[in-house]
Amino acid sequence: MLIKAHALAVVVIGVLLGQACGDSSASAPTPSQSAPKRLLIVTTTTGFRHSSIPIAESVLTRLADDSGVFAASFCRTTSDVAQLLSAAGLATIDGVFFANTTGNLGIPDLAAFLSWIRAGHPFIGTHSATDTYHDSPEYLEMIGAEFATHGNQTTVDIRIDDRGHPATSPLPSPFRIFDEIYEFRSNPRGRVTVLVSLDRHPDDGHPEAGQPGDFPLAWHRQYGSGRVFYTALGHREEVWNDTRFQQHLLGAIRWAFGL
Ligand SMILES: [Zn+2]
Repeated sequence: MLIKAHALAVVVIGVLLGQACGDSSASAPTPSQSAPKRLLIVTTTTGFRHSSIPIAESVLTRLADDSGVFAASFCRTTSDVAQLLSAAGLATIDGVFFANTTGNLGIPDLAAFLSWIRAGHPFIGTHSATDTYHDSPEYLEMIGAEFATHGNQTTVDIRIDDRGHPATSPLPSPFRIFDEIYEFRSNPRGRVTVLVSLDRHPDDGHPEAGQPGDFPLAWHRQYGSGRVFYTALGHREEVWNDTRFQQHLLGAIRWAFGL
């Protein structure tokens, strides 16, 4: 007996997403065509100052120019902080990027600054952004952890915890890199969404080197209506010049602005 095969017709329905219909000559802008987000790069330090800061500034400037996603401006000194992170200054930008800041920066009204983030403005931090404002539990809660210590610079094989995020999707797995590896006063996992981590203590000269553990190195969190991203990498100039780290940051910036 012959079995008659039935053809299965698959109908694909294309849905056109709402295009504005007023002016037919103007198409809806794509993110790359819309105005770049105004991102203030803060490199102010009142504690240790990383020699990688000038490299960080030039890398972020080039990422801004090449991507068109954001326009970079800079806040370098404590007098810049007093002006640019005041209520009047914050009204002129869309987000902040703390690139290897250290210490108490002297933000005129830190509570107002944190409220500004909660109101929907992105905060992105690298490396010693967690070695910043040790005297403010509110700042440390926002960023997710407080820097505690580091050992010798070392090569690590970073595990990708969440590959579905724009900050991690460009990264190889494992992500092998040589940098200064931070440890934090408490493990932020549970308070934040961990993106990458180590599954053993870094081989940095510490007695526990190589022992199994959980050492988050980058994460994100929702903070009110604001998006917060932090990566512990970024001590060394070579890391800032590493295109993989640059893609990690650009993905984070796109995500933080919802692009
Ligand atoms: Zn460092």
